[in-house]
Amino acid sequence: MTAAATAPSSSPPGPGPGPQVEGDDIETCGGVKESRQAGTSAIHPSLVFIHLFSLAFLILVLTAQFFLTDIKFHYSRIFSSHPFSRTISSPPAVIVHEPVCESPQPFPTAPPVSRVHTMALAEETKRITAQFEYTDDDVNKGVQEFLRQMHEGLDKDGTSMSQIVTYVTGVPNGTEKGLYLAVDLGGTNFRVCSINLNGDSTFNLTYSKVAVPKELMVAKKAEDLFGFLARQIELFLKEHHEEHFEASIRRRQTISAEDGYEDEEIFRLGFTFSFPVMQFGINKGTLIRWTKGFDIPDAVGKDVCALLQQEIDKLRLPVKVAALVNDTVGTLMARSYTSPGKTSTLLGAIFGTGTNGAYVEKLANIHKPITGEYNQSTGEMVINTEWGSFDNQLNVLPNTKWDAELDRDSVNPGIQIFEKRVSGMFLGEIVRLALVSMLKDPKISLFRDVNSSSNDWKSTTTIAKDSGIFEQWGLDSSVMSIAAADHTPEYSILRQELENELKIYSASKEDAQAFKHVSCAVGRRAARLSAVAVGAIVLQSGKLKTDEDPIDIGVDGSLVEHYPFFRDMIYEALAVIDGIGPEGAKRIRIGIAKDGSGVGAALIALVAANMEKKDSADRLTTVKEEAVRKLSNVIPGVGEKTTLA
Ligand code: ADP
Ligand code: MG
Repeated sequence: MTAAATAPSSSPPGPGPGPQVEGDDIETCGGVKESRQAGTSAIHPSLVFIHLFSLAFLILVLTAQFFLTDIKFHYSRIFSSHPFSRTISSPPAVIVHEPVCESPQPFPTAPPVSRVHTMALAEETKRITAQFEYTDDDVNKGVQEFLRQMHEGLDKDGTSMSQIVTYVTGVPNGTEKGLYLAVDLGGTNFRVCSINLNGDSTFNLTYSKVAVPKELMVAKKAEDLFGFLARQIELFLKEHHEEHFEASIRRRQTISAEDGYEDEEIFRLGFTFSFPVMQFGINKGTLIRWTKGFDIPDAVGKDVCALLQQEIDKLRLPVKVAALVNDTVGTLMARSYTSPGKTSTLLGAIFGTGTNGAYVEKLANIHKPITGEYNQSTGEMVINTEWGSFDNQLNVLPNTKWDAELDRDSVNPGIQIFEKRVSGMFLGEIVRLALVSMLKDPKISLFRDVNSSSNDWKSTTTIAKDSGIFEQWGLDSSVMSIAAADHTPEYSILRQELENELKIYSASKEDAQAFKHVSCAVGRRAARLSAVAVGAIVLQSGKLKTDEDPIDIGVDGSLVEHYPFFRDMIYEALAVIDGIGPEGAKRIRIGIAKDGSGVGAALIALVAANMEKKDSADRLTTVKEEAVRKLSNVIPGVGEKTTLA
């Protein structure tokens, strides 16, 4: 169950204090009825006392009700700061004077709005949602252009989709074993974890997380930051792998004096580094530029793996930085390891703050030069598409006026155009911009409450001055998930969310409906655009033409995980793609890849370790062949039938 789906059910269905007061009314009404029944009895001297008693009881009940409700009213005011109580609270005092024997709905069934304005709002909503329609025909045009831009990126550098080669030449099948380290330097935290791959598609993960000190983000020297990272690795090893750590240190100290280190005693580490790097080997990559508040000019242009290794070596830790990892590649690897059966995964995709995908491509299709060493035996290499930049030229992507506005006011206009229509960071902003243009139209009654004098809640729809609706990036995409999941007849959950998240108070049912329709249209378009990327890569792989079943895809990110039916909408669009169709779509299996950055980095470290072993085996073979050749020069016949081990 997703957070989006559980959040509404954990919220109360309506206003906090309101229903409590209404519960009192029911009890009180019961008391009143009882008193009236007593009053209809025949007059009898012995009943005079009972009548008097009943009268006194009635007075007592009414007085008690008055005080109780008064107390409730104060209680509701005192506790109105509680997140669930801070909602639409009609003054309970009104109910005291007109007790009714029913349980009112938390929201009125037909909020009073002017008919003309309701029509205008509904019409305008339709007009707006139509602009976010992404037809089956659009999906197919998108796929063709995606394939074209994929090929362009495989042919040369400097294209819209970068199609970066990753030097990862195979994906796991779940049988891999071993203990690996993984570190992840994101924008805010540094995560260190060790992963024990059990060889049966399962793993055990131990991790620690520490915030990167602000002063180190802008340190003078690269070694200040990387030294800090190495010390975190040291602390982690001491705390979680003491035996191994001590043994390795002893071993390493003894052996280093003679002929180097014993490889098996050294942890292989996968380094997930979430900044732009130019990769030129499985554990080599130079920093292009810092982002996300980091600024250490000394590190720019340097190999980040080497920077980390230097600091690790200063501490004499038994760790080798074996792989540099991109989070999409990590997702692909993690999913391939954990996916059911022995099927290897074709694509790892992120639909979180941003969107991107990495897939397995045939070496024969990569026409641009691949510098550096890599294992050619698999005939494949994982490609990091950087599909967030698909169609920056806007050849086929939809471009409503709100898309254009979002791009114009972003920090990187003209770049990441696909991402700006698909991922979590941007969807809420598109919805916000569309709603703001509705708000600005005097003919439309969105969030206006034109009939507030007869509003059942005795309150006017208000939007706080500091509401997110007026601020760039002020509408988080998570609200869209709430909207999509709210199937209550009165949109009570969404209206509560509008209060809590956007400070839009007492929105009408029609307001909520308009919000939901616009939001769902933007969400649906995002899912169908995602299908363009997924579908194009499935077609590119040619796997639909083989019997391999299913075609596995790993996804990660809050959007795909929490937005209701996001994956179903992707499937629906996949089914209309020429060359896939409903039968092909059934063969595609999209599954969540958990702990991608940790498990994926560990798996890439494993690939790297295997490459090292193969390298040293190749070196050994070369040395043996050389020895045999030299010997055969001296002693004819030597080596003729030799089988090299
Ligand atoms: P990251 O991309 O940093 O790894 P996430 O995968 O958690 O992190 O994605 C965060 C993004 O997802 C944010 O832009 C946020 O607005 C969006 N998001 C978070 N929760 C939800 C949700 N329930 N529904 C839709 N989008 C969400
Ligand atoms: Mg993520």
